[in-house]
Amino acid sequence: MTDRTPEEADACRAVKPVVCYRSDRLPAVDLSLYESARESMTLVSEVTVAPRDASTFEARAGQLFRIVCVEGHQVGDLNLWNLHDLAERFYSGKTRQLQASHVTAGDRLWSSMPGLRPLATITHDTLGWYGIDEYGGSVHDVIGTRCDPYTNHQLNGVDYHYCCHSNLTRALADHKGCDLQQAEQHVHDVLNVFMCTGFTLDTHQYFMKATPARAGDYIEFFAEIDLLGALSACPGGNCASSHSDDDTPCYPLHVQVFETKPDALHGWQPPERSRYSRTHGR
Ligand SMILES: [Zn+2]
Repeated sequence: MTDRTPEEADACRAVKPVVCYRSDRLPAVDLSLYESARESMTLVSEVTVAPRDASTFEARAGQLFRIVCVEGHQVGDLNLWNLHDLAERFYSGKTRQLQASHVTAGDRLWSSMPGLRPLATITHDTLGWYGIDEYGGSVHDVIGTRCDPYTNHQLNGVDYHYCCHSNLTRALADHKGCDLQQAEQHVHDVLNVFMCTGFTLDTHQYFMKATPARAGDYIEFFAEIDLLGALSACPGGNCASSHSDDDTPCYPLHVQVFETKPDALHGWQPPERSRYSRTHGR
């Protein structure tokens, strides 16, 4: 092979990076609105997500919902859809580009194209203290996908049925009253709630380490539109060592949905879908 290394190779590597997307051009996050909503919040529903399983929940626009670590160190995999249109769903890749690889209070979860609008805004995160550790790791990532039986079969040659992908598939099928194959096509890349991850500094491989989440920790969201959610309590438990098996202690998670008083929202309206013309140059 021809060696194409230029003389200025080191200079190329030394070029300073620029952030791809200007977050200062996104709609401002009105923290006072969300604080006002939080002050009026009352619990209206609660669902327990069993270990190695998933449950669905609904949150209407203007409501808040929390994912709570209730017993032990446990990671959750979250899917979100427009309650009225499953084609509009959480878009982890664009959220990663518009926000960051790991999300916390003040960040938004964006929807798929052509909607491309905030589905939810994170209003509170008790793991906000963690920051970024010496390995580049942090919590609540949008870089991983979800543990799934196909990758597990590829790597280990066995069928395991309680990966987050399968858990989310069963939960959505039960909610919609459809078969598993119909539900599976709507399952998508997740927000890895409480999971502590990053890329290794030397080889840029995806890594995980034990979640710092303890009983009582939670992450809280404001529903920007009517949402259907599904949460899986990952078979990896705290995701310190393995996933896609029954070897790790695994604990339940709770999802709590809170009503807010309309006058606390000060005339707030759900965000509109993208106004791009969709003519794509024709
Ligand atoms: Zn998982």
